[in-house]
Amino acid sequence: MKELAEYKETLHSCSKCGLCQAECPIYKITGNDCTVSRGQFIMLQGLLKGELKMTKNLNKYLDLCLKCGKCSKFCPSDIDVVDVIASAKAEYFKTSKIEKLVSIFQKKFIFGIGISFLNFFSKKIQSKKFEKKVIYFGGCGSKIKGNEAVVKILNSIGIEVITPDFECCGIPFYVRGDKKTFEEYRDNFLSKISEYETFDIITTCASCEKTIKSYLPENYNIKNIYEYLKSNNLQLELKNKIKVTYHKPCNIDNFPDILWILNNTKNLEYVEMDGYDECCGLNGITKISEYSIFSKIFKKKFENIKKTKAKYVLTSCLGCEAALLSYSFGRYRVADLVDFLHKNIKK
Ligand code: SF4
Ligand code: SF4
Repeated sequence: MKELAEYKETLHSCSKCGLCQAECPIYKITGNDCTVSRGQFIMLQGLLKGELKMTKNLNKYLDLCLKCGKCSKFCPSDIDVVDVIASAKAEYFKTSKIEKLVSIFQKKFIFGIGISFLNFFSKKIQSKKFEKKVIYFGGCGSKIKGNEAVVKILNSIGIEVITPDFECCGIPFYVRGDKKTFEEYRDNFLSKISEYETFDIITTCASCEKTIKSYLPENYNIKNIYEYLKSNNLQLELKNKIKVTYHKPCNIDNFPDILWILNNTKNLEYVEMDGYDECCGLNGITKISEYSIFSKIFKKKFENIKKTKAKYVLTSCLGCEAALLSYSFGRYRVADLVDFLHKNIKK
């Protein structure tokens, strides 16, 4: 994670064209330039020049950003907005006791004791041996859900799956600006993979994939599992007809591979939802003070899901799963696509 000062030229390269406004889900609700990259960059330039101070109010705008990166995809200056905002968050983190306390709580109780407790009940299976091997990184969630789906599906196409006991990829701490904890998780991951002579890593989580790509040494590859399934032309059939829809995580790169699976699995009836690629609003779940803004995002997603009349909303990111479930009110089920396939395919 770079220091904010290192982004001085990047901030300068923002042409203030405002194209990000047309894409930003938060700006569309607030209409306030301080809540979109263009306005945030103007504030951050003021901060670097010493004209502004990093205050609670400035941090409030940084926190409103969903870190969805949608604006970056259309930015003519090709600015990675999430990286810039994370570095700005790190400036605030240095000065804020509350942010530090929240981070310690998250590390010790959610990603520490909480995950270990749930891990105790999760099912782990041994992979069959094959010449082709991959390391599976499912993030901390894989400890909860177990590795069964990935091992069985990849074994069925002749791939051995190595499943080290990984911890979090670090993304919750990256976006909070807790550089030290993020780097601890990064170093832990790099030390674990160095114990193996396998250089292909697969994941089922879009956010883990993006985060790991940012620090993975060049001699390693990380891919999303769907690329493997499509390139092996894996033909799947569900035991019963099931209607599903799919929420596209902001960080997923290989959506065409996912679409191929959704459209080529027998008995799976895929209905595209309106706004299938609009952010789930995960970042807003804990922001009680800004609930009036985030609730509009949740409500729109909920209504779009309901309109499809699908029994399941499938996705490929642990964070999206948590967000979609939190406002489902029992009206639909939420599942990871690979877990869903594994549980419902004809064996
Ligand atoms: S789209 Fe990019 S260059 Fe244009 S205003 Fe937004 S951040 Fe700046
Ligand atoms: S990352 Fe998403 S929420 Fe943040 S400014 Fe860009 S489009 Fe808006």
